[in-house]
Amino acid sequence: MLQELALVEKNEKVGPDIYFLELKAPRIASRAEPGQFIHISLGTIYDPLLRRPMSILNAREKTLTVLYQIVGRGTRIMTRFRPGDSIDVLGPLGKGFVLEEAEQNLLLGGGVGAAPLVFLANRLRAKQAKVKFFLGMREGELLFLKDLLPSGIDFFASHENSPRGEAKQVTDLLPPHLEQNGKTSLYCCGPEGMYREIARICNDCGDFSIQVSIDRRMGCGVGTCLGCAVKVKRPPREEPQIVRACVEGPVFRWQEVSTDGF
Ligand SMILES: Cc1cc2nc3c(=O)[nH]c(=O)nc-3n(C[C@H](O)[C@H](O)[C@H](O)COP(=O)(O)OP(=O)(O)OC[C@H]3O[C@@H](n4cnc5c(N)ncnc54)[C@H](O)[C@@H]3O)c2cc1C
Repeated sequence: MLQELALVEKNEKVGPDIYFLELKAPRIASRAEPGQFIHISLGTIYDPLLRRPMSILNAREKTLTVLYQIVGRGTRIMTRFRPGDSIDVLGPLGKGFVLEEAEQNLLLGGGVGAAPLVFLANRLRAKQAKVKFFLGMREGELLFLKDLLPSGIDFFASHENSPRGEAKQVTDLLPPHLEQNGKTSLYCCGPEGMYREIARICNDCGDFSIQVSIDRRMGCGVGTCLGCAVKVKRPPREEPQIVRACVEGPVFRWQEVSTDGF
């Protein structure tokens, strides 16, 4: 884990309450892996005290990008970052996705939660892997993410507020793509209800590898405060264990996450 003063290069509004942040942070960018996150200081000393965790949308040479949505005070403060500002960033943090050898890779993202899948798609395509990207949105506000994807990817989108008869949930798009021969790996980022639905659909069709990124409120982001507990079941132990999403995650195998404590 590194601490770096990152230079803000862009902080642009790209949708309703959605911003694209570009940071020059060469040391963190060169070590980042898909699914990892950074912890951003808001530049204030005591109030708000805590950093805010953000997934890495992409990392290229010296640059890191982040896609964030305003939900409260901290993310509203982030909108005031200006090009030329220096911000204090910790990263890359946590354990990201395990890139598997599979016949096809299905990447499913819901809302801004889809951000780390862009980085993952780039890494998988660099290995010539077959990638299908599924993006769930309200009404097209995240379609620009398609332009950040590498070539050779099949892209599908669902629109929750669509007046037409299109898919409304990203999970509605999934079933036909599970009927393939060979190993299928699923990589998912979004709300927890989406993971449950994906697991339900997959269990009806067979045995799949499903990795999910678990978004917990975080205090320190480095494993000390124990604020981001997740319950997992890891055989041979029968009892669930409590682990920290910031260090042992945020990416977990769905099958090991204990849904009673989810
Ligand atoms: C590993 C990780 C990666 C993340 N990546 C992104 C990202 O790429 N883009 C993005 O927009 N957001 C991301 N988030 C969520 C983001 O960190 C929170 O939205 C942010 O910290 C909220 O800060 P705030 O001060 O604006 O809101 P607060 O005032 O702290 O909270 C406002 C509202 O947001 C909810 N909230 C706060 N934190 C979280 C959280 N961690 N998960 C769910 N709800 C929360 C609160 O319950 C409350 O309703 C990520 C979170 C984690 C843990």
